[in-house]
Amino acid sequence: MIPSEFDYVAPTTLDEAVSALSDAGEDAKVIAGGQSLMPVLRLRLNSPSTIIDLGRIEELRGVREDGDAIVVGAMTTHHDVMTDDLVGRHAALLAEATTTVADPQIRHRGTFGGSLAHADPAGDLGAVAVALDAELIVAGPNGRRTIDAADFFTDFFTTALEPDEILVAVRIPKHTDWTAHYEKFHRVAQSWSMVAVAATVAVDGGTIGKAAVALTNMGAVPVRARAVEEALVGQSADIDVIRAAAEHAAEGTDPMSDANADAEYRTHLAKVLTRRAVVTAAGV
Ligand SMILES: Cc1cc2nc3c(=O)[nH]c(=O)nc-3n(C[C@H](O)[C@H](O)[C@H](O)COP(=O)(O)OP(=O)(O)OC[C@H]3O[C@@H](n4cnc5c(N)ncnc54)[C@H](O)[C@@H]3O)c2cc1C
Repeated sequence: MIPSEFDYVAPTTLDEAVSALSDAGEDAKVIAGGQSLMPVLRLRLNSPSTIIDLGRIEELRGVREDGDAIVVGAMTTHHDVMTDDLVGRHAALLAEATTTVADPQIRHRGTFGGSLAHADPAGDLGAVAVALDAELIVAGPNGRRTIDAADFFTDFFTTALEPDEILVAVRIPKHTDWTAHYEKFHRVAQSWSMVAVAATVAVDGGTIGKAAVALTNMGAVPVRARAVEEALVGQSADIDVIRAAAEHAAEGTDPMSDANADAEYRTHLAKVLTRRAVVTAAGV
């Protein structure tokens, strides 16, 4: 199908984009890589009166260091995230998880910010943002504010962004000495996660000093597996400890049943994938 008619605006600065969005009213939409929005428009699941294209705003792209964090611009493509040196050094979990997103064509167009704003429960990068304690910097007509990743996802395809706000960048505390693994279970290669687990740990002298684990597609929003983390921290990095900790993976989750998997199977997957993710992250 062909999208319904809309006005098109292509600002070159963030300030212009914020003004254009606020002037255009509540049914306007911003477009980033278009990889999720274009299918929505073509199916006429959404018919915005105005589309504001963020593609010409250079200040929204790229990765920079900011003290004890790195800051990833919302318009940085998946390809540029996964090949970026700062991301590789300080947020290995994000680099690895991004390599599992879709296929090379989509990774060259789709953006980190677009993925988070789209908030698909099967999207891979929400759990990564939650596990890494990321902060999302957003801009609106009243200025900027920061939202913790844990509070950003509020429901299926729904976030804490107001209709007149734009996601500007994602601030990720450096996880420099942490090792990581993203364990994704999907039906066919290059497709969405049925369930996936983002795990990153800091192991010192055979002991797990720090652990962060979050789950993809175990509910409407990414879920932090706090019970797993508590069972890991302070313990030896060995297979029995990790296996016992992974048994807690589904606590606090609310998995759905769909054509790919029912809730019981997803619960099983969460435990198995958590064990695999932590074993690989810890190098056991
Ligand atoms: C065939 C296919 C397979 C895919 N497989 C995967 C997968 O395995 N894993 C995965 O995680 N993803 C997958 N994706 C999604 C992909 O990661 C997209 O890139 C992502 O969902 C949307 O990013 P985008 O930049 O294209 O955003 P767009 O499609 O342009 O926008 C998506 C939504 O976010 C809003 N938005 C975008 N940017 C901003 C911003 N800066 N501020 C406020 N709102 C914003 C838009 O208004 C829109 O509502 C797949 C997509 C396709 C088409």
